[in-house]
Amino acid sequence: MTVSLVWLRRDLRLADNPAIAQAKADGRPMLFLYHLDSERLERHDVDGIHVQWELDCLDSLKIVIENRGGVVLFRYGHILESLTELHELHNIHTMYGNEESGLQWSWDRDRAVADWCQENNVQFEEFPSNGVIRGLRSRDDWKALRDRRIDASLIEAPSRIRTLPNIQSDAIPHPSEFGFKVRELQHRPEPGESAAMNTLFSFLDERGRGYRKGMSSPISGVEMCSRLSPYLSSGCISIRQIFYHTKRKQRRIKTNPRSAENRGWSGSLSSFQSRLAWHCHFMQRLEAEATLDEQAMNPELDALLDRPFDETKFRAWSEGTTGWPFFDACMRSLIATGWINFRMRAMLQSVASYTLSLPWRASGAHLARQFLDYEPGIHWSQIQMQSGVTGINSVRAYSILKQSQDQDPEGEFIKRWVPELTHVPMEHIHEPWLMSAEEQKEASCIIGTDYPEPIVDEKVTRKEGISQAYKAKADAEAKLRSKLVYLVHGSRKRSRFQKASHLK
Ligand SMILES: Cc1cc2nc3c(=O)[nH]c(=O)nc-3n(C[C@H](O)[C@H](O)[C@H](O)COP(=O)(O)OP(=O)(O)OC[C@H]3O[C@@H](n4cnc5c(N)ncnc54)[C@H](O)[C@@H]3O)c2cc1C
Repeated sequence: MTVSLVWLRRDLRLADNPAIAQAKADGRPMLFLYHLDSERLERHDVDGIHVQWELDCLDSLKIVIENRGGVVLFRYGHILESLTELHELHNIHTMYGNEESGLQWSWDRDRAVADWCQENNVQFEEFPSNGVIRGLRSRDDWKALRDRRIDASLIEAPSRIRTLPNIQSDAIPHPSEFGFKVRELQHRPEPGESAAMNTLFSFLDERGRGYRKGMSSPISGVEMCSRLSPYLSSGCISIRQIFYHTKRKQRRIKTNPRSAENRGWSGSLSSFQSRLAWHCHFMQRLEAEATLDEQAMNPELDALLDRPFDETKFRAWSEGTTGWPFFDACMRSLIATGWINFRMRAMLQSVASYTLSLPWRASGAHLARQFLDYEPGIHWSQIQMQSGVTGINSVRAYSILKQSQDQDPEGEFIKRWVPELTHVPMEHIHEPWLMSAEEQKEASCIIGTDYPEPIVDEKVTRKEGISQAYKAKADAEAKLRSKLVYLVHGSRKRSRFQKASHLK
């Protein structure tokens, strides 16, 4: 007897899972394999929170699979060794998986698996499951192909799963068994496929009404953003499922947009749909260039910007002890919860690159380890964008003071995450170093003792960072490279960049 092996990677769901549907359709007994690659655990962008989240999502999927008659096998180590062992035991006929757009190490792994399958007479079938187009010939074609893919019908979860007799699932271990320390996250979401669906519906039924306005603030964003990102990165939900249910809601609203029930939704849902398109857009970049964590899209710009590593600045930045209250609050909140909204992520990175002139690879790896939703395709594209090393995005160096005043005018968020500033009066909460000695005493916050002085003068260094970026962008070779970057990675939506003179 032969079996079909479903290789679960970052697609931990039963519904809308093409690999599972195909394995079921071929009629052989099925085995599910989740393989934790030892190589992955050694990487600088991986943290225990990622591994635990994935294993908890797997545990939840395992229960669903078992309830339908299937089994889930767990292996740790080198994938080819595990496949050899399983092939000897169960005689694999076909391996099914969904395409993964990951960093170079995962491409190398997938290629090794494909070679192993060929050598061992095992068929290997992979399926697209999101808006990333494998083997895309021209970026000009991407949007139409993506839209068609995303709009296709959803795939139902199998109600029964046939497996081999006398075989049981493996227990899913805790990451500490592999030597991983896992930091406890505050308000960590519930793992698994049904929790993902509940999160989607709570957004579409209620929380998302204020999305367009609420997403920019780290206070309202917690509730008004969808919070679907960790589910997307572990694959507990597919981008097509989210798209499908959002479109249904949009259709319902269109029938009576002015009713009290529907008011406020239309703009929020169209902003949300754009974000879903961005998801695929950025993932496509990694599909085209798997080394975005190491290699800048525009190496000429990167070389010109040449930002050296400075231990003191990096530590203050990464721990949230810079002396800038709003910045520190954002970093500390991210470390504690594993999530922060888009605008604040962009600010954290742009401060590292422009204001502190730190190298993007180091700051990017630190942020990757903090995000529960770490998704390499989005992450490294955004890190490069917010650091000015793509050449196709405008220079955007966030002012901490402006963000602080706009997003947290009362200092509520600051006081929640930076308790040293609890008694600082509102008029000084954004710039406590401006308090007189007397005021500092009254606020029980001596600057330099209880709370640090700003690590640099933001106004001066940010300005320097911006002018350095514009100077580098004007370089002839960097400009030439930008044209090539645009051809491979650029959004074809009409943008300021396309109209920019240096591209003519
Ligand atoms: C420096 C930096 C690093 C980032 N790293 C990641 C990452 O590792 N993983 C990740 O999922 N997102 C990342 N983002 C994008 C964005 O901040 C998060 O997707 C979003 O904050 C997640 O919260 P949400 O699901 O509530 O988002 P929503 O605002 O509700 O958006 C819904 C979904 O749309 C997609 N999306 C939203 N914004 C973007 C964007 N700007 N680019 C691409 N896709 C987007 C995500 O899949 C998100 O889950 C990063 C942004 C920056 C600036």
